[in-house]
Amino acid sequence: MSKYRCIICGNFITPNKDNFAVGDNVVFAIKKELVNSFRITTRIGKIEWVKDKVAGIKSGNKTFERIFDQLHPADAPSPLAYALGEICECEVPNHG
Ligand SMILES: [Zn+2]
Repeated sequence: MSKYRCIICGNFITPNKDNFAVGDNVVFAIKKELVNSFRITTRIGKIEWVKDKVAGIKSGNKTFERIFDQLHPADAPSPLAYALGEICECEVPNHG
């Protein structure tokens, strides 16, 4: 059973974005500026350092800085799945 699926309703559980730690694999977005628009791509990386809810994420040979809110756990369903799926709203105290 995935920790991101509610055992009661079967819907997605929103990842807790306060508990990212060094060594976690995360997905984050990169915005590429084009001439008249922009393009969003996602990358996966590993957290190298954490300071005041900001993480330094090593991906390839670069380190990116992102606030925790902009990160998504790599082992959770994709952000798109959360956007399209049903989100758990059970009031279960031990969620997450
Ligand atoms: Zn639920």
